[in-house]
Amino acid sequence: MRRVVIMMGPPGAGKGTQATRLSRELSLPHVSTGDLFRENLAQGTALGEKARGYMDDGKLVPDDLVVDMLFDRVARPDCAEGYLLDGFPRTVAQAECLEQRLTGTPVTVVLLEVPDDAIVARISGRLLCRDCDHIAHREFSPPAREGVCDDCGGELYQRDDDRAEVVEKRLAAYREETAPVVAWYRERDGVCSVDGNRDPDDVFADCVACTQGAA
Ligand code: AMP
Repeated sequence: MRRVVIMMGPPGAGKGTQATRLSRELSLPHVSTGDLFRENLAQGTALGEKARGYMDDGKLVPDDLVVDMLFDRVARPDCAEGYLLDGFPRTVAQAECLEQRLTGTPVTVVLLEVPDDAIVARISGRLLCRDCDHIAHREFSPPAREGVCDDCGGELYQRDDDRAEVVEKRLAAYREETAPVVAWYRERDGVCSVDGNRDPDDVFADCVACTQGAA
C-alpha cells in the first residue's frame, strides 16, 4: 500500500543517517530536501543560486522554492508507491501543501529527539560524502580512511552550514518554524517520538517500530 514516512527532528538529530537505513528497510526512496538543494548547488543551477544565501545563513529557503522542488522529485516513478521524507515539511505551510497533495495516503511521522548540547557536538564533527550523501562523524563514526567515504570511496567534507555560528541559527529556525509542524501533526496523523540520543542501532530499531505502528 502506498505510504509516506516523514522523518522530523532538529538539525543534527540523525535524520539523514536514520532515513537512509529506514528507506532500505521499507524499500521507499529517501527524499531529502537538504540533499536536493546541495545537488542543485553543486550543479550551479538557478534554484541552487536562489537557495544558497538562505542555506549559508542557516535560514529556511522560501516555501514556494522548496515545495516546487519537492513535488517535482516525488512526481518521479520511483515514488509512485510512496517515499520517505527527510527535512520536509519544515513549516506549517509546507505541511499543508503536502497534505493537499497526499489526499488519503497514510502518513507516519517519526520525531527524533536530541537535546541541544548533544546537537552541537554531533554537528561540529559531521562529515558528508560529496558523491553518495553518506554521513560520517570524526569522533562517533569515523571513516576507515580519513576523508574517504566508507560506502563509495567519495570525498568526505564538512558542510558550510555546520559551522557553529550557523548551527545556532538553524536551531532557532527549527524552534520557531518547524516545532509548530510537530504540533500540527500531533493533532492530525500523530507523531511517534524516538529518543535519538542513543546508540544508532537502538534508535533505528525504534524508528522501524514507529513505522509498524508498534511504538
Ligand atoms: P538539511 O540538510 O535538511 O539540514 O537542510 C540544509 C538547509 O537546506 C536548511 O538549513 C535550509 O536552508 C534548506 N532546507 C532544506 N529543507 C528545507 C525545507 N523543507 N524548507 C526550507 N528550507 C529547507
